[in-house]
Amino acid sequence: MRIDFEHILNKIHQKVTAIDDKGTVASYIPELAKINKHHFGIHLRTLDGNEYGVGDFDKPFSIQSISKVLALAQAASFVSNDILKRVDVEPSGHPFNQLALLEIENGIPRNPLINSGAIVIADILISNLKNPKEDFLNFVRDLADDDSINFNLDVANSEKITGFKNYAAANLLKSFNNLENSVDEVLDFYFHQCSIEMSCKQLTKAFYLFANKGHCLLNKARLNESIIKRINAIMLTCGFYDEAGEFAFEVGLPGKSGVGGGIVALLPDKFVITTWSPGLNKKGNSQLGMTALEQFTSKTKLSIF
Ligand code: GLU
Repeated sequence: MRIDFEHILNKIHQKVTAIDDKGTVASYIPELAKINKHHFGIHLRTLDGNEYGVGDFDKPFSIQSISKVLALAQAASFVSNDILKRVDVEPSGHPFNQLALLEIENGIPRNPLINSGAIVIADILISNLKNPKEDFLNFVRDLADDDSINFNLDVANSEKITGFKNYAAANLLKSFNNLENSVDEVLDFYFHQCSIEMSCKQLTKAFYLFANKGHCLLNKARLNESIIKRINAIMLTCGFYDEAGEFAFEVGLPGKSGVGGGIVALLPDKFVITTWSPGLNKKGNSQLGMTALEQFTSKTKLSIF
């Protein structure tokens, strides 16, 4: 049966934007606190060649932790299984910036999608790229086939000034010899990576290859199929901080959220969908984004389960 995606997305948009409790915009990065929490957008791209957008789907926002998936993809193309010597692949069951486990587990982060893990991935990229920030940005631009994508330097700087926990994590990693480069260099890269701005539409395009066995939509950029399989597994088990179980339970898709309010999720061979609503729930995931995606997979009956 043909699914009327346009109708379904319009209905979800109508219903979800009417919800009063929109969550709370992240304020620990002061620059993010300025965002209006009434923004809401969804963009869907199906692998049979159709795309649909509702609301603010074309407006760029801070992708924050969603960038961790793209950094992992680039790092995996250099060092592949060696990454596992420095970062594990288990859900942490703890908030994204928690440090206790890192100390107990001798400086090996639980997974590459919590902050300490992403900081190790940033270190790997710095060691392997000639011009790390520029080369990573170009990698993202290539995946999305869009050269207008850029860092937001105000957001990167805002996080640098207030990123005490990330400095603590990086220092802890360094003390366990799990950083090759200096703490300042690694965090400068990490804050820039998180500050990249993209719209829902640009994100669905950039993540297309995760649903399409490593092949991009329009250009030649591609990743090894087994890396894609592994990264999708990591997104499913670790993509939503300590709410990964809840997201799998309610939505049933691999995905990744960021404190800018974005969520990207995908069904291999079928579609990529991105939502953006800046208000977060208590676990740091977009409140309305979670609701919209739960409705989407319930109404379409399209999930991995
Ligand atoms: N740059 C943010 C931080 O390190 C990313 C957090 C997130 O989106 O989960 O705190």
